Amino acid sequence: MSITPRDDVALMAGYHSPQVDVAVRLNTNESPYPAPAAWRARLHDALDAIEWHRYPDRDALDLRRAIGALHGVGPELIFVANGSNEVLQTILLTYGGPGRRALVWEPTYALHSHIARITSTEVITGERGPDFSLTFADAAKLVRHSQPDITFLCSPNNPTGMVDDEDLVAGLMYEPSGLLVIDEAYGQFAPKSHVDAVVSGELAGSVVTRTFSKTWSMAAARLGYCVAAPEVVEQLYKVVLPYHLDAFKQVAATLALDYVDEMNARVASLVEERGRLQAALTELPVDVFPSGANFILFRPTAVDGAEVWQQLLDRSVLVRDCSSWPRLEGCLRVTIGTTDEDDAFLTALQEILT
Ligand SMILES: *Cc1c(COP(=O)(O)O)cnc(C)c1O
Repeated sequence: MSITPRDDVALMAGYHSPQVDVAVRLNTNESPYPAPAAWRARLHDALDAIEWHRYPDRDALDLRRAIGALHGVGPELIFVANGSNEVLQTILLTYGGPGRRALVWEPTYALHSHIARITSTEVITGERGPDFSLTFADAAKLVRHSQPDITFLCSPNNPTGMVDDEDLVAGLMYEPSGLLVIDEAYGQFAPKSHVDAVVSGELAGSVVTRTFSKTWSMAAARLGYCVAAPEVVEQLYKVVLPYHLDAFKQVAATLALDYVDEMNARVASLVEERGRLQAALTELPVDVFPSGANFILFRPTAVDGAEVWQQLLDRSVLVRDCSSWPRLEGCLRVTIGTTDEDDAFLTALQEILT
């Protein structure tokens, strides 16, 4: 007897993002800044107080209260998990699955369709326009036609950086089809968040997901959450594994929420740095896409994108190679780093292109 995975899993490509040892790592949109020293010191002390022989608080109530306070809501509107990818997976396990459909518009975050397929949810794919924008009229037409159980938006969108029109998001919130999931992994870097609209109460069919990985300098901790109506949160908690969020993570994240000002200052400086990088890129032979996130998508015009990626790597600068992704031929994505990292990237890119 041979041991084989499910047929659809056997055919899957998996999700790959190479972790290469380089001097300048600008490929996975992490924060370039370490977490605040004061937080690390307090976490160190807090570790001693953890009862390691006991299961953690299954409901993660302290943490959910602290996150809720950040958004002016109670813990019953907050679902927390091991990275926002686990939030997305739990949403798909709860509202997707065999016989159900999830709608995405490409190009967008690969994990939306990837996790949908893993959970045997049929994926319906719409296409964004030539500049990667999406109008409400086009989006609504596809929603009405395909009647998805889950509709994904990602704003700011990864990997394009585009912030969706308010009309689009607000309009889809009122479409009476399934759950609307707005992935705001980069929400803090954009001028506008949709959390307020979701918590306003009328919008039981909408969910906003957030993560500690990008803004909060805590990618290593694997923490994400969503803000949703209490009846949605209740269903998600039925599906996720019991005690899925360990005690260490709960303490680490709860303490981190005492450092909102530091995090906001980091966001502000990264947004400023994004402007500097954007301006510098426009001086080079590349097409630059506008970004409301902590990364920039660009396409070298004279040299092949994959070749530029390799030559950057040869200079110990790692960016994300999107050049073989559908609709993104020749494109690369660079994470906003520290000023020094970004200068190293720009110098290398200039050498390669000019
Ligand atoms: C990075 C990213 C996530 C996943 O973040 P984790 O919380 O680290 O799992 C989710 N959505 C988008 C769009 C991302 O870019």
